[in-house]
Amino acid sequence: MHVRGLGLPDETEVRLWIVDGRISLEPVAGADTVFDGGWILPGLVDAHCHVGLGHHGETELDEAIVQAENERDVGALLLRDCGAPTDTRSLDDRDDLPRIIRAGRHLARPKRYQKGFAVELDDESQLPVAVAEEAKRGDGWIKLVGDWIDRSIGDLAPLWSDDVLAAAIDTAHAHGVRVTAHVFSEDALPGLIKAGIDCIEHGTGLTDDTIALMLDHGTALVPTLINTIENFLGIADGAKRYPTYAAHLRDLHARCHGRIAAAREAGVPVYAGTDAGSMIKHGRIADEVEALKGIGMSPTEALGAACWDARRWLGRPSLDHGASADLLCYSTDPRQGPGVLNQPDLVILRGNVFRP
Ligand SMILES: [Zn+2]
Repeated sequence: MHVRGLGLPDETEVRLWIVDGRISLEPVAGADTVFDGGWILPGLVDAHCHVGLGHHGETELDEAIVQAENERDVGALLLRDCGAPTDTRSLDDRDDLPRIIRAGRHLARPKRYQKGFAVELDDESQLPVAVAEEAKRGDGWIKLVGDWIDRSIGDLAPLWSDDVLAAAIDTAHAHGVRVTAHVFSEDALPGLIKAGIDCIEHGTGLTDDTIALMLDHGTALVPTLINTIENFLGIADGAKRYPTYAAHLRDLHARCHGRIAAAREAGVPVYAGTDAGSMIKHGRIADEVEALKGIGMSPTEALGAACWDARRWLGRPSLDHGASADLLCYSTDPRQGPGVLNQPDLVILRGNVFRP
């Protein structure tokens, strides 16, 4: 089959042929034209979601499949799974589901993350060994819980000492995998960034100093804006026994737009992730793209953060000759907003056409 339209970000003509599930940039005789005019994009990327994670942790595989289908139907064809307790490896055999880049299971300490989500290490010195173990389960990423409420002090606090983080991140890099961490507060950031972490998730507690550290170390940021904006106040309201923690969350919520905007303005690479899989429903990447416009990204940059730029960062191809034919066709400019971006005219995954 054959498709023709405008590519982004350059707005130049794209002509692709699809043969045996792969893209050909060279004409193929006798191909059916299935789309002509409009815009053609590589499949969208949700750079922070969870397939096989529900409100209480592990899910049935059937539920994980529905989560992945919901992502596919809105055009999210490459998912960076930021930690899941369910083994979803068998989903890789299915031609109809998005590609998943896994980060193994979350690594945390007892009572220092949501119950049922993480591998909980009794002693922090176990972290490097646990990292080596999760490196085998994942697809090139490790997920740490960087901070969480410490009920003994009633506030957010780091889970790991700086030297343990340095050893754990060195171990991950020696295994050829990158590391990211859940971080809400200010205090956990310096230790993680100085230890050479590759990415920060959420990052609501960024300061000018930690933004400068991220620039020095080349650290990326996936702010999951829709999750923090929609959920922090509700979490604070539910934390009546921990008023310091609740006040801290409210303060982070009030300032996070400005802090994430400052990080982007300074030059920290920012990518789109929804955090779907517990409080956020799957299939909302278009809402995150819209939210990224609110931190100063142009419509093209915000879309790139969920598409071609994210693919490059994750080491996955876009509309390249020989790449898997994972692409989207839109008759209307997908930069217009979620109403368009969410509803591709065609979703083509591994060369198979889906019409949502
Ligand atoms: Zn998450």
